Amino acid sequence: MFKINENYMKLPGSYLFSTIGKKVKEFTEANPDSKIIRLGIGDVTLPLAPAVITALHKGVDDMANKETFKGYAPDLGYDFLRQLIAEHDFKSRGVTIATDEIFISDGAKSDSSNIQEIFDVSNKIAVCDPVYPVYVDSNVMAGRTGEYLVDTGKWTNVIYMPCTKENDFAPELPTEVPDLIYLCFPNNPTGSTITKDALQKWVDYANKVGAVIIYDAAYEAYISEDNVPHTIYECEGAKTCAIEIRSFSKNAGFTGTRLGFTVIPKELKCGDVLLNSLWARRHGTKFNGAPYITQLAGAAVYTEEGKKQTREQIAYYMNNAKVIREGLIAAGYSVSGGVNAPYIWLETPKGMTSWEFFDHLLNKANVVGTPGSGFGPSGEGYFRLTAFGTYENTLEAIERIKRL
Ligand SMILES: *Cc1c(COP(=O)(O)O)cnc(C)c1O
Repeated sequence: MFKINENYMKLPGSYLFSTIGKKVKEFTEANPDSKIIRLGIGDVTLPLAPAVITALHKGVDDMANKETFKGYAPDLGYDFLRQLIAEHDFKSRGVTIATDEIFISDGAKSDSSNIQEIFDVSNKIAVCDPVYPVYVDSNVMAGRTGEYLVDTGKWTNVIYMPCTKENDFAPELPTEVPDLIYLCFPNNPTGSTITKDALQKWVDYANKVGAVIIYDAAYEAYISEDNVPHTIYECEGAKTCAIEIRSFSKNAGFTGTRLGFTVIPKELKCGDVLLNSLWARRHGTKFNGAPYITQLAGAAVYTEEGKKQTREQIAYYMNNAKVIREGLIAAGYSVSGGVNAPYIWLETPKGMTSWEFFDHLLNKANVVGTPGSGFGPSGEGYFRLTAFGTYENTLEAIERIKRL
């Protein structure tokens, strides 16, 4: 008689976005003439760059010819793409990453969720609070956490590292020693970053206590300040303690196309065992995770044209971020993020809870955002707005918020 994985039953489900959907639906039904503006979008909205589209067409044509047809992709992904990544994402930053340390995948969500499988179930994880929910959820399903406590909004057996205004939204080294440390910079949802010196402290700490850092750099392309590292391997000693996860989703619009990669340096070992060789055994859809056509499209992102076109997209979003950030500051809000990330994180005014502010913004300004408490207990009292809307709507939304 089969048994289910009981750990799946522990997950409370996606309460955040279903509640937002329900509230917006109710409001629209009651106010059919109001024009709702969504500044809660966590997905890109501009179409794929022309260079990427051209590559996708070529990929389709290649699949139509006997001479150029492709079956299963190589285990780690196509060499042409891994070479471009090694060159443009790492060598250009003074970091040497070998092509066989790069594993192409169908995206950072899958990788950041699956990477925990190469670690023992007894490992203790540490996560930033608030943060992208995938890290905790995947460890819940794997049985690495205890129970969810409704009153605290926390899982037992997880080390939470609060990121609040008090520490400028950058976590402090934990007092309890973790085995796996999830870091995400620039951060979703707070839009905060970490300086190279501050990240170096984490690398030194992980090497000292024998922990592995899983570094999610999905928003690397949004970094605008010089002292913010683009890759954790800019830090001395990171190759012996860090795995880095990247995505083509937010820098090049691949959220619906699916492409990402994970870097596992060969120096990263547990005894004699290379984590690189463990990840090479990953299974299922994780194996050959991205089609040839998609990998060809990814390569186009690194062409001169592709770079220019994707940079323009990021500039468009970041101009929206500037409108939101500066508008909120002018309206007297306490704001962070929006400089190295498409996310603006604001403190809710007048002691409102995250959900009270959500209702206030929806009812009074007809603007939809995301309550900070949905990303972790330390997100209570904060609110996330995103730069993925249109410029015109963003301007209008901010004008409405200013008039509140
Ligand atoms: C959007 C996002 C990703 C990207 O995931 P994909 O699966 O590559 O689309 C990864 N990490 C964070 C923190 C994100 O917000």
